[in-house]
Amino acid sequence: MILSLKLEDELKKLNSTLCYQCGTCTGTCPVARVEERFNPRRIIDKIKLYGIDSVLNNEEIWYCVECFICMEKCPQNVKITEIFFKLYEEVIKRGIKKPRKYVGLVKAIYSTGVSTGAYGGKPEAFSGLILKKREKMGLPKPVVKEEVAKTIIESTGLNKILED
Ligand code: SF4
Ligand code: SF4
Repeated sequence: MILSLKLEDELKKLNSTLCYQCGTCTGTCPVARVEERFNPRRIIDKIKLYGIDSVLNNEEIWYCVECFICMEKCPQNVKITEIFFKLYEEVIKRGIKKPRKYVGLVKAIYSTGVSTGAYGGKPEAFSGLILKKREKMGLPKPVVKEEVAKTIIESTGLNKILED
C-alpha cells in the first residue's frame, strides 16, 4: 500500500494527472507514425483512469524509443518519456514478464556485441549482409567488441534480469 502511494506520488511529480488528452504526444511520436498499436496519449489516459497496473502487462509500453519529442511538445509538461522509464522500473521490480523479443535483443547484444542475433542470425550474418551494404555506401567495417557490451550490461545488472 505504502509502495503504491509512493508510486502514485512519483507519477504525479511527472505531471501524469495534468494530461488533458490533446493528442500532441501521439501526433508527434515517430513510433506512433509507423505502429498504430502504439499510442502514448492512450497509455497516459489509462494510467490516469485505472492506475499504473493497467498498463504494466502491455507489450506496447516497450515500443517507446525514448526520443523525448513528446515531452518537448506536451503543452501540459507531462513527463511522458520519464513515465515510460517508471513503467519499466515497475515491470523489473515486480518480476513481470518482459516481451521475448526485447529480452532476445539484449541477450544478443550481451553475447555477440551486436543486435542482429536477436532475429536468429549470427554475427557472421551481420558481417555478410550489412558489410556488403556498408561497403556499397562507402562506410568502414564496423568494429564489434563483445567484451565492451558485456562489461556495460554486467555493470548495470541487466544480465541478471535476462535470467527470468
Ligand atoms: S501531449 Fe501531453 S497533454 Fe496532450 S495527450 Fe499527450 S500527455 Fe496529454
Ligand atoms: S519518447 Fe517515446 S512516446 Fe515520446 S515521442 Fe519518443 S517514442 Fe514516442
